[in-house]
Amino acid sequence: MDKVLIIDDSPVQTEVLCKILRDTYEVTVCHTAKAGLQAAESGGISLILLDVVMPGMDGFMLLRELKGMEVTRDIPVILLTSLSDVQYEERGLLLGAVDYVTKPFSPVIIKARVNTHVQLHRYQMKFKEQAMLDELTGVPNRRRYEGERQARWGEAMRFGLPLSICMFDIDKFKLYNDTFGHPAGDQVIKAVARTAASFFQRSTDLFARYGGEEFVAVFVGNDGPSAFELAKSVRQAVEGLQIRHNSPVSEWVTISMGGVTVVPRQGDDYATYLKLSDTMLYDAKRFGRNQVVWCGQNGEQWRER
Ligand code: GH3
Ligand code: MG
Ligand code: MG
Repeated sequence: MDKVLIIDDSPVQTEVLCKILRDTYEVTVCHTAKAGLQAAESGGISLILLDVVMPGMDGFMLLRELKGMEVTRDIPVILLTSLSDVQYEERGLLLGAVDYVTKPFSPVIIKARVNTHVQLHRYQMKFKEQAMLDELTGVPNRRRYEGERQARWGEAMRFGLPLSICMFDIDKFKLYNDTFGHPAGDQVIKAVARTAASFFQRSTDLFARYGGEEFVAVFVGNDGPSAFELAKSVRQAVEGLQIRHNSPVSEWVTISMGGVTVVPRQGDDYATYLKLSDTMLYDAKRFGRNQVVWCGQNGEQWRER
């Protein structure tokens, strides 16, 4: 059931709305804007019915808050206004409300409008999610990565945690395409993506297809040696798929990986470390491929061979 949040200071009104909606929706009621904001922030809400006139923080102030925060921005808000509030409707719509209903409510109209906007919201969320996923592999795409990497970096800095950036790339993949054909190559990219993705399942992990046959992973909390070990596990898992290749590197499809682990400090720049990670990948290629080369913040380096 989709969740609908009702924020209205009048218990009589909320009772009426509850009756209208509770067959179809999981309804939460808040009688103050503050409680409503908290409920909205906690997530999972598909639509908010918001009373304009409330003591303390009113509906407009709350609406502005909701539209200002990433986690609540996309929740459709329908304003509840009484006839005397008609001049407010314009203001509410300009602030980002999707619709308004005037009191006293017509149950049919309320229900129809809620249904419409919950449905639209569902499509919008689906569309937004798909726009962030790579079509071939289903893993997050470059756009998603670009949108999130800075947040990970900021979190690591705030909590003083090590952050790792890992770049990897399929070995001799041009040869694979030339030998087995492009469609078979696509299947390899998919298999590699799926295998690697299974290692980056924590909520703070960011794994994405960077482009072509290249991938990137950003993860927080591992120190250098443990990040190196994790990368090695990914590399071994790909090799363990035993997808026939016959390149000068191996009889199987393999990847080369480069990475860096850093505790970000004020003044540090993400791009610097991304470049370092790419340099490590280049080294892994240079040293013979099918291997991980990793470095720490102070020039330590870990290599497989
Ligand atoms: P290296 O070991 O140095 O990485 O050699 P490589 O041949 O893998 O590297 P190169 O950059 O020369 O070639 C990458 C190849 O990846 C060429 C390109 O056709 C192929 N490729 C990139 N994107 C896709 C894709 O979506 N599908 C398929 N099948 N191939 C792709
Ligand atoms: Mg009121
Ligand atoms: Mg390659």
